[in-house]
Amino acid sequence: MNLYSLEKILADEPAFRLKQAREAVFSKLIENWDEATNLSAALRGKLNEECPLKIDFKKFISDDGATIKFLITLTDDFKIESVLMRHEERNTVCVSSEVGCPLACAFCATGKMGFKRNLLPGEIIEQVLCSARFLKKEKQKVDSVVFMGMGEPFLNYENVLSAIKILNDKDGFGIGARHISISTAGVVEGIRKLAKESMQVNLAISLHAPNDKLRNEIMPVGKKYSIKKIMSAVGEYLEATDRKVMFEYLMIKNFNDKPEYARELAALLAELPRNLYFVNLILYNPTGGFEPSKKEAVQKFKEILQRAHVSVTERYRFGRGVKGACGQLAGGK
Ligand code: SAH
Repeated sequence: MNLYSLEKILADEPAFRLKQAREAVFSKLIENWDEATNLSAALRGKLNEECPLKIDFKKFISDDGATIKFLITLTDDFKIESVLMRHEERNTVCVSSEVGCPLACAFCATGKMGFKRNLLPGEIIEQVLCSARFLKKEKQKVDSVVFMGMGEPFLNYENVLSAIKILNDKDGFGIGARHISISTAGVVEGIRKLAKESMQVNLAISLHAPNDKLRNEIMPVGKKYSIKKIMSAVGEYLEATDRKVMFEYLMIKNFNDKPEYARELAALLAELPRNLYFVNLILYNPTGGFEPSKKEAVQKFKEILQRAHVSVTERYRFGRGVKGACGQLAGGK
């Protein structure tokens, strides 16, 4: 689906037509232009021809129904994933920003695929549309969007921001910027750029280790962006935005889950204003090579952080039944 073609196709029409068309796609969630009865039959025909709304996807639903994974086939036959998570009365869509990923993190299924290409804004939007259309049937909507699917969003900065503008647009999805989050493996140029944006998008940092030696073992990108560089960029971001940052920390058994690392993490974070960050402990979703931490290890790690006055949340793995770890479906074809 090429949403930018909309502007071109409607260039000779009065301006309100574009607004009507956008409302039809993003708000009324039509799946065929024939449903947009406020447009002329001739225009609907042209739009069906030049800007078809069909999305080529397969859907996988977890046993408890709380996680729905969409495997989308793009026009060049590459496959990408997005996941709808229905938890605590919120509908969150996790979207991909790239086909594959160049960062090759050792624990990540997408990393094993290598990098294919960046996604276009329309291809990012399509992923949210899949969930929105699905939820419409239950009279529900998408509440929030997280860029935690395949790829590194800050290596596709412009297209990710263009997509966010459409998600945020009142004539588009109308999802508040505060309900949109970008997760980065620590690309500091992106962190600095985001600090200067006027939109109040949330930032998450995939830290996963409290020192470079340990981090570089699982995240090769750490050789380019050291923890020191990341912390300094995050410091600038906090200064500029006053917005809370989330540090993601994967819990990998006997690797990064030892008590000494919790203490080291707390010391590292102590240089930032305490009210402006929290740590999210994420149980590693097995993709080969590692094992998830034991419950007791997670609990102990959490307690050490809390004793050091670090706010901590815990995220359990979502949707194992649908191969919920990022890249597990698209990579397995
Ligand atoms: N490249 C970005 C966004 C995509 S990954 C980033 O690194 O943040 C989104 C999150 O899922 C990251 O925190 C990533 O480390 C985590 N993740 C990747 N593989 C995982 C796995 N097997 N189990 C649990 N979390 C995983």
